[in-house]
Amino acid sequence: MLHKISHFKREANFIGGAWVNADSGQTIDVVNPADGRTIGTVPRSGRAETRRAIEAAEAAFHSWKKTSADHRAKLMRKLHDAIMDNQDTLAELLVMEQGKPLAEARGEVGISAAYILWFAEEGRRVYGEVVPSPWADRRILVTKEPVGVIGAITPWNFPSSMLARKLGPALATGCTAVAKPASQTPYSGLAWGVLCEEAGFPDGVVNIVTGSASEIGDELCENPLVRKITFTGSTEVGKTLIEKTAGTVKKVSMELGGNAPFLVFDDADIDRAVEGAIAAKYRNSGQTCVCTNRFFVQAGIHDRFVEKLSAAARKLNVGPGLEEGTQQGPLIDMNAVEKVEELIADATDKGARVTAGGGRHELGGSFFQPTVIANATTDMRFMEEEIFGPVAPVFRFETEEEAIRLANDTAFGLACYFYTGDLGRAFRVMEGLKYGLVGVNEGIITTVEAPFGGLKESGLGKEGGHQGVEDYLDTKYVCIGGLGL
Ligand code: ADP
Repeated sequence: MLHKISHFKREANFIGGAWVNADSGQTIDVVNPADGRTIGTVPRSGRAETRRAIEAAEAAFHSWKKTSADHRAKLMRKLHDAIMDNQDTLAELLVMEQGKPLAEARGEVGISAAYILWFAEEGRRVYGEVVPSPWADRRILVTKEPVGVIGAITPWNFPSSMLARKLGPALATGCTAVAKPASQTPYSGLAWGVLCEEAGFPDGVVNIVTGSASEIGDELCENPLVRKITFTGSTEVGKTLIEKTAGTVKKVSMELGGNAPFLVFDDADIDRAVEGAIAAKYRNSGQTCVCTNRFFVQAGIHDRFVEKLSAAARKLNVGPGLEEGTQQGPLIDMNAVEKVEELIADATDKGARVTAGGGRHELGGSFFQPTVIANATTDMRFMEEEIFGPVAPVFRFETEEEAIRLANDTAFGLACYFYTGDLGRAFRVMEGLKYGLVGVNEGIITTVEAPFGGLKESGLGKEGGHQGVEDYLDTKYVCIGGLGL
């Protein structure tokens, strides 16, 4: 397995089809969060390398955009197969740099392949229109064209699939790409370069640059050749990127932070709700933008829910991601541990009660206990801040109106979940929640067929679904006159 991993674990940028170092020769260490050991380095690149990658993407765009959707779909099917043929190897590489349990990593690599296949299919259905003309001698066409070079910036929590959602629609529509993976998890990003090479994509269609986030980000945002920025990460950085793209009026897609509420009503199936709660909270150690940040439980069911959720959380098996049976891996780094500790201390100072976990795990490092906190109140920091860790605060509510109001009382609007056995209530609550993704009696809902994306400060645009290609296309109106009809 080791030599297979080293085949994908590239320690260089991928620019114009070549594997190259940073101009300065400087590197960044990549650390395994499970044991704190350095597993390798990647280039510390800046503006100059990014500019060359953009120029390579622009050069490739002129011929790539002229290929047929069918041709691109065939290459994408090869890319899909290359991913699935190496699913285990890519998953192990992902665990080594990110920490999540191997089963979750295999799932992530599987969904990466599924996105590529989905977009290969969608790319063949990018239809234009013929519009009824108000003039007898003119005809009106509406065509769709690829926007051009796109810049993709991705986070460390899903280092493979976040790129799949961006490279998929880019490749399918005839765009070319410059990607910057997160510095904590660059290898799963660079592996896309190896996979694209093997699938036979022309040089320059996909380029990957690692290094200084602000330098690479600034070049991508300011270079006029880049026509679209697609970003997944924090709301704070997303806002900066939107500002920086204003100078060259680019399209932007933003998948930003969340503050997911999870509502449990008295009429819910409590065991199903607990099962959904565990999945929606502790997956990836709580480090996803759709992870539950706030549980709201109705008074009649509250105490039993807290008891059952705490018991289930205590049973979760914490360990290194590559170890058999691990259900929760380490947090990404010690900063994440300190942030979670601060939020717990803030809550307990204000009267919250820890009913499961509550502190660092005996394994040490960045391992943290799956935690449940009862008596949560709206003056606690996690009412507004993303926890991004395995901590489940539980609030009590009395009425449906109160639950909806509390759930919506945030600047974010990405995912939300609720559990009820009443169909009328299901529709009322679903329509009352101001969120882009709603799970009704389900705790995990992401799939390639559906549009993923947030409202309010959680983002702009959709990834996946047939909507997922729209942001990669320009609409062109063509008026053909003088037809003598
Ligand atoms: P997280 O809190 O999940 O690490 P960030 O928004 O900080 O999320 O990071 C997500 C991605 O954005 C990473 O690839 C990171 O390197 C990149 N990034 C961070 N700061 C900037 C910036 N100023 N400009 C461009 N990209 C940035």
